[in-house]
Amino acid sequence: MTFRRLRILILLGVLAAALGLTWLEQYMARGWRAPLDVKVVPINGDGSAQASEAIRALKVEDFSDINAFVERETARFGVKQSPAINLTLLPELRRVPPAPPRDGSVLKTIFWSLQLRWWVYQQSGQLLPELGTVKLFVLYHAPEDGVALAHSLGLQKGLIGVVHAFADPRQASQNNIVIAHEFLHTLGATDKYDAEGNPVYPQGYADPEWPQSTPRHEAEIMAGRYLAANGKKVMPPSLERCVIGAQTAHEINLDEGFKRRFGSTD
Ligand SMILES: [Zn+2]
Repeated sequence: MTFRRLRILILLGVLAAALGLTWLEQYMARGWRAPLDVKVVPINGDGSAQASEAIRALKVEDFSDINAFVERETARFGVKQSPAINLTLLPELRRVPPAPPRDGSVLKTIFWSLQLRWWVYQQSGQLLPELGTVKLFVLYHAPEDGVALAHSLGLQKGLIGVVHAFADPRQASQNNIVIAHEFLHTLGATDKYDAEGNPVYPQGYADPEWPQSTPRHEAEIMAGRYLAANGKKVMPPSLERCVIGAQTAHEINLDEGFKRRFGSTD
């Protein structure tokens, strides 16, 4: 065998292993058979003293409403697990993840997502990739008037979320909404809002069987907002006022839990 052929064979082998691991990881994470391991890694997103301060004050309990939300909402679809997720808070990481490309070109995006996965693997300090563990990197920023945070994101391949959050304890509940949203992206949930940020009817609404014009008090988590009585889109104050809708439930494989609990007719 020539060296060239051998090299191609090795590359194909690595690719097959990577695809296999990605599949295995998704299978593990979306099985809803055991509490899912979730690691939260705080990062100072803007180098500010306020972000350092917020990170120093973080406790694992600050994220407990995320488990309460996942537990409550997955139970509606037949999953009975307490806790639903095992969330651990890791010490501050003093490096920032590679930023996504600004122009959004497909090739650059593919390259960046590989880069991000490689970066996450390097940060883990482990020889083997942490299969089946969701890694959420939360970058804290001091709030600035009129300045929006960069877009948070959640990648299904590699179970990685990069969340931009406000370094303000008063924002903790809303930060947790964003964290829960990106967490569900890593399990395969898709966004349910349109280009203007409005929830898409019916799948982006709580109580989707009601007419679209009926004002809501809760948001579908992947829409992130609800339309209130004044017609304005509102971000709910906390995860207590968020739900997982039927389409999101299907996307994150909750049908499996539903079948196990209530039996299947097919
Ligand atoms: Zn999203």
